[in-house]
Amino acid sequence: MIIETNVPLAPYTSWLIGGPADFFCLPETEEQLSEALTIAKDKQFPVTILGGGTNVLVSDQGVRGLVICLKKFSRTEVELVTEAKPEQSYLRIRALAGTPKAELLRIFLKYKMAPALFLAGLPGDVGGGVVMNAGVAENLVPREFGELVRSIQVLRWEKNTLQRIDLGRNQLRWTYRHSDGWQPGIITQVELVWPSIEVPSILEQVKAANLNRLQKQPLDKPSCGSVFVNPVGGKAAQLIDECGLKGLSIGSAQVSLKHANFIVNQGGATATDTWRLIQKVQQRVKELKGVNLTTEVVRLGEWGEA
Ligand SMILES: Cc1cc2nc3c(=O)[nH]c(=O)nc-3n(C[C@H](O)[C@H](O)[C@H](O)COP(=O)(O)OP(=O)(O)OC[C@H]3O[C@@H](n4cnc5c(N)ncnc54)[C@H](O)[C@@H]3O)c2cc1C
Repeated sequence: MIIETNVPLAPYTSWLIGGPADFFCLPETEEQLSEALTIAKDKQFPVTILGGGTNVLVSDQGVRGLVICLKKFSRTEVELVTEAKPEQSYLRIRALAGTPKAELLRIFLKYKMAPALFLAGLPGDVGGGVVMNAGVAENLVPREFGELVRSIQVLRWEKNTLQRIDLGRNQLRWTYRHSDGWQPGIITQVELVWPSIEVPSILEQVKAANLNRLQKQPLDKPSCGSVFVNPVGGKAAQLIDECGLKGLSIGSAQVSLKHANFIVNQGGATATDTWRLIQKVQQRVKELKGVNLTTEVVRLGEWGEA
């Protein structure tokens, strides 16, 4: 396993923001991942996991210890399981955590199945999808990752030995943009299942969903998607818009003019500017609407008092 030093993390994030990792590696196999974790344990390095980097804000000071990026930890096995009763047949996908969600989309499109629709335009990896219970606001079936997951595999230290733990879906808890029951550890593999029912118009629906995203979201600029989770009974984007905050900027970080829950990097934005802007938005929405917005995006690295 090649471990590099002082590697800038910005190129590994969709926001293109953030300082360097002290140590960095891109494992392709479970053996390499185990080797990296063993080195980190021996040297007492803290470990940070990066999936697709589409929901993280990496500090300008970077990340101490070892960053394990799962971008190359990608492989799928697909099986159409046919039962005597056709209505019990299903598609099973086993995916390594670093498999792009776009690969799942491709598979479900091939089989003309409903999950393709919520996956359309969802960036990042399968592992990140499980961690964040990624999904869409629209009332689709399915609309979140948790609805597809049958089991996951987690790698974690137990009594100084790296253990591979299998967890079934009822050992996991799924809430809005979050999953629990698998920590601590690294999600290495995900098994997804979906009934074998064809939706003949799925490709047209996916194309329409992609067009809709293109019209509503600033996909031409680096971002992390929605910065804030929707508060109960409300929409973060609507609240931010109603507070007149679209276009508000600190440095090169700007509340998108197109979608108020996106903060875009106009070029050279720093993590400090972006975090200050996030806090400014929270403060204004609290003052004007009385609502506490909490962040969906995860901060990684050293933040000090920021
Ligand atoms: C343009 C755009 C649009 C988006 N639209 C949506 C949307 O519609 N719906 C939605 O839900 N999200 C959306 N997102 C956010 C993001 O894509 C999702 O949250 C995604 O699931 C994150 O996956 P990732 O692989 O990029 O995770 P990362 O950003 O790399 O990581 C997220 C967190 O998970 C941890 N992590 C990642 N992989 C593992 C693992 N294998 N084991 C343990 N921990 C891990 C990381 O340490 C970090 O804390 C959007 C983002 C962008 C940029």
